[in-house]
Amino acid sequence: MRPLIVIGNWKMNGSLASNADWVKTVCRGMEQGMPSGRQYAFCAPFPYLSQCGQLIRDCSLAFLTLGAQDVSAHTAGAYTGEVAASMLKEMACKFVIVGHSERRQLHQETDELVAEKALQALDCGMTPVICVGESADERNSGREVEVVRGQIAKQVAVLQDRLADCLIAYEPIWAIGTGQVASAQLAQDMHRAIRLQLAEFDADVASHVGILYGGSVKPDNAVELFAMPDIDGGLIGGASLNPQDFLAICQA
Ligand code: PEP
Repeated sequence: MRPLIVIGNWKMNGSLASNADWVKTVCRGMEQGMPSGRQYAFCAPFPYLSQCGQLIRDCSLAFLTLGAQDVSAHTAGAYTGEVAASMLKEMACKFVIVGHSERRQLHQETDELVAEKALQALDCGMTPVICVGESADERNSGREVEVVRGQIAKQVAVLQDRLADCLIAYEPIWAIGTGQVASAQLAQDMHRAIRLQLAEFDADVASHVGILYGGSVKPDNAVELFAMPDIDGGLIGGASLNPQDFLAICQA
């Protein structure tokens, strides 16, 4: 049985004061009781990981953990501006988002680089959240499954059975930050296609891997999405900035 996992992606938002308010509000809300067997995390910008790590240690809810939004594909050395997986691990990160569409589009990240980043996270004992998804043009021309299969195939080629220790986030680019959420059935269909593709490689890996949906998830659409058999939770952008909305999605 795969646990339901909800991960917030704060993107480039936050401040020392607002982070403290957010974590305290979410902790207080979660202390009132949460559905059992679920995991929750939020991915803060690099400079705030230390602060957020301390805040969630103070809150001490085992099911609420921390993540990062990116990681270097290199272990250490002359890579100005990059952040190594070992550093994220020291900041108590449990999850690392890799291959978010904003990084693929704005920083020309390739599937090969994304897989290298995932390996770095795995080698340091963290769970990579590997983002895949098609653009509006690709969907409108009927190529969405082909595009996502291509992205997954590159991850399978590099990560092999280590994929069992990863999460995949299906994030259709046309749904990210647009308010245009995929219908639960549309998302389920792609999640199913991804799981069947993983099963072509290894049935065990396919049944273990959590596949999260991301793209305009809000409190009012989370219940229907999370009820789908191949949707194992969500990667939440905009709505995760509001602690009450994040809590409501976590409770969905
Ligand atoms: C994201 O950035 O990963 C995301 C899913 O954003 P949003 O929820 O705002 O669409």
